[in-house]
Amino acid sequence: MPGGKTHETINITVLAAILAGIFYLTIWQETAILSRYMDAYTVITFSCSYLFSTFFLSPDLDTKSRPSKRWKMLRILWWPYRTIFKHRGFSHSMILGPITILLNFVLILYLLTLLSGVRLHSIPQELLIPATVGMILSIEVHIISDRFFSMVKSIF
Ligand SMILES: [Zn+2]
Repeated sequence: MPGGKTHETINITVLAAILAGIFYLTIWQETAILSRYMDAYTVITFSCSYLFSTFFLSPDLDTKSRPSKRWKMLRILWWPYRTIFKHRGFSHSMILGPITILLNFVLILYLLTLLSGVRLHSIPQELLIPATVGMILSIEVHIISDRFFSMVKSIF
């Protein structure tokens, strides 16, 4: 299995490839197909949530990992998650992984917004989809990387 740094490198490389593709389809290609569907805010929101997810919402939150340590004293908020899911269990499932991580994150966000008094409906709704897609994609890239490395390891 790749280590934390390798996972981050793989995720960032995939993001760079996606952004290069988006850039090509929105600017360089004559038809500019994607520019009809996304603007700069969408791409920035997608990229930021993808990076946030890479560094803070990794499926490896189910163990003592780099993303887990980045939560500092808020790490306790992931304790139920770590307790319920054993390492590389549900957290590393292609479907249940992103769902359980995002549900836990939404619960944490909800509690933090309640405590801080921030109104959730002040967040622009149109940015929720690119933010969610960015986070899910980052988690999926992690899971696919783990599976790929496991498969290669089983061959050799
Ligand atoms: Zn993993």
